[in-house]
Amino acid sequence: MNALTIKNFSKEYRGGTKAVDELNLEVKEGDFFGLLGPNGAGKSTTIHSITGIVNPTGGSIEVFGKNVVSEYREARALVGLSPQEFNADIFATPVQILDWMGGYYGMSKKDRKERIEVLLDQFNLRDHKKKMFRMLSGGLKRRVLLARAMMNSPKLLILDEPTAGVDVELRRELWQHLQDLNKEGVTIILTSHYLEEVEKLCKTIAIISDGKVAKQGDKHDFFKEPGGLESAYLEITKK
Ligand code: ADP
Repeated sequence: MNALTIKNFSKEYRGGTKAVDELNLEVKEGDFFGLLGPNGAGKSTTIHSITGIVNPTGGSIEVFGKNVVSEYREARALVGLSPQEFNADIFATPVQILDWMGGYYGMSKKDRKERIEVLLDQFNLRDHKKKMFRMLSGGLKRRVLLARAMMNSPKLLILDEPTAGVDVELRRELWQHLQDLNKEGVTIILTSHYLEEVEKLCKTIAIISDGKVAKQGDKHDFFKEPGGLESAYLEITKK
């Protein structure tokens, strides 16, 4: 089954900017999928349309067969998003941040409590559970956002630049967390500017340019060609 099926998806913002133009994309269940492209290519617009933050102006998007517009409740329950910006209450603790997210998904108090215990261990946050978000390092903040995205046990996890601003050591730790989640069966879609990260983690890669998929394939297809992923990326994105 496809975790994600995007057909002829378009988004034109008010004012006339065509951010995405008839984009087609399929992500298989269990994949670790890398979405690459220069700034302004349409990655965030696509991600935000999958999670219901942005309304498509054309085409259709389905998450595990659920339409993100007409079946938005079912679709949203299947997706977790770790956003690029640190959009958590800076005075809240990791426990509060996770608890609020559970409330958003309508989880009972007991279920929230149990789930938080699991996530604190899974993301090594137990020692930091009572610290204010603003006091945490960049790497820890990323871990909190990742745990928050996993609060509703989504089958599809979307990560927008998950290691931006994270130092090398913590980045490796985060990679391990992501690989573990993927091994447990979570389908992951990742955007990143670090080609090394995409190369290490992703099984399938798509390069988006000007609101369309310019090239997509198995990771190994990109590395068969001289210059590998970097050459393909530069070739597509040069203007
Ligand atoms: P990426 O995530 O690949 O950098 P975006 O999806 O953010 O790309 O942007 C694609 C295009 O849509 C850009 O030209 C951007 O300026 C425009 N855009 C993004 N968000 C909005 C918005 N809320 N209103 C108007 N234009 C937008």
